[in-house]
Amino acid sequence: MASRKKKMSSGKPFNVDLAEQRIERLFLMAKDAYAERPELSDRYVDLARRISMRHRVGIPAEFRRRICKKCYSYLSPGANSRVRIDGKNIIITCLECDNIMRMPYK
Ligand SMILES: [Zn+2]
Repeated sequence: MASRKKKMSSGKPFNVDLAEQRIERLFLMAKDAYAERPELSDRYVDLARRISMRHRVGIPAEFRRRICKKCYSYLSPGANSRVRIDGKNIIITCLECDNIMRMPYK
């Protein structure tokens, strides 16, 4: 008799689902913390990156543009980052290290 595999309703393995939820929560916490304690926001995004690497889970695009790829700071548009739209790209400048990132705009 063939063994049946249990599947989560989402079709993803349980730990991946959990990792995604934790990443999302960390980004929301980083956003809330930024006004009062920006250094805490950096810690949260650092944790989110570690979870993403350990579980090989991608960071959703909306959150990916909240981290500088060079200095890994949490980026708050209008505070420590500048966001411009150029045709089909979003151009994000990190004002912490002057790194410029281009991302496709959906
Ligand atoms: Zn930077």
